[in-house]
Amino acid sequence: MTILVLGGAGYIGSHTIYELIAEGYDVAAADNLSTGFKQALHPQARFYQLDIRDQAALNALFAQEKIAGVIHFAAFSQVGESMTDPLKYYDNNLAGTISLLKAMRQNNVNNIVFSSSAAVYGEPQTVPILEGDPTQPTNCYGETKLAMEKLMYWASQASGLRYVALRYFNACGAHPSGQIGEAHNPETHLIPLVLQAASGQRQKIAIFGNDYPTPDGTCIRDYIHVCDLAQAHILALQYLMAGGANNVFNLGSDVGFSVRQVIAAARQITGQPILAEVVAKRPGDPARLVASSAKAKQILNWQPQHSSLDEIIASAWKWHSSHPTGYVD
Ligand code: UDP
Repeated sequence: MTILVLGGAGYIGSHTIYELIAEGYDVAAADNLSTGFKQALHPQARFYQLDIRDQAALNALFAQEKIAGVIHFAAFSQVGESMTDPLKYYDNNLAGTISLLKAMRQNNVNNIVFSSSAAVYGEPQTVPILEGDPTQPTNCYGETKLAMEKLMYWASQASGLRYVALRYFNACGAHPSGQIGEAHNPETHLIPLVLQAASGQRQKIAIFGNDYPTPDGTCIRDYIHVCDLAQAHILALQYLMAGGANNVFNLGSDVGFSVRQVIAAARQITGQPILAEVVAKRPGDPARLVASSAKAKQILNWQPQHSSLDEIIASAWKWHSSHPTGYVD
């Protein structure tokens, strides 16, 4: 049974392919390599270098492979860039998904699991966040993810399409092998930046604000290991293949850690002092984002196995210390 993974050379896509192959699935991977890395691809995945907006290339792929289900990660994900270049985000994230759904319809492939984001909620009114809570994105990236969810919904009403949208909280950590991990250019995420400070690649970590209404004044986030996310995609696909209806699930560890707690854990695990300096708040950062993932646990039988803060940081450190410049030699 072949599973097509779009965006298979990206951070979460590459980890999902490793899990799929470990579980015996046959995998075709597509990526335009605009933000992904060829080295992140599992050697057993058949790779197609294409842009999902290229309808002809997608159609050729669907003609060549016998695809039973699709997992879709091919999207831009930098919040800051989405605010300065919204058209780029609508074009890739939404127009790309439209051409993918056209290819699926033409080839009678009906099951799709795709990356959504906690960014669809915006500033939460209550925490933990539930799937039925209001969706009011505060940035363009989150708006495109919500638009993708709505696109799937309306497309499903008009055809046999069925989808699962997975709303991730803070993806982090790396494969236990240390062979693949998180690599963004530019890097904006807290844990990789803290580890760069640990390895001496950067002098210190900037803490974005310390007067939030939280116990230590720094922002609280819900950090979820990328291998647990990968597992959720496989469970979601199995759910659809068993006839499950359209659905939306939060994926988080349901525990919040502050920026200072993350830095403290990284100091302990790396044994490095890690200099930190409080700087101005980052505009648009909510004080506290923590998921309720009860629905995914109940319906998909998902059980995060790797998402203690220590395991997240230890796995990320194993990747970072063996690949200090990511996939770039
Ligand atoms: N953060 C920080 N310094 C940095 C990067 C991030 O203090 O150099 C904080 C940020 O304000 C947020 C948390 O770390 O509260 C996680 O940020 P990240 O960008 O990793 O993910 P986000 O929650 O924005 O998706």
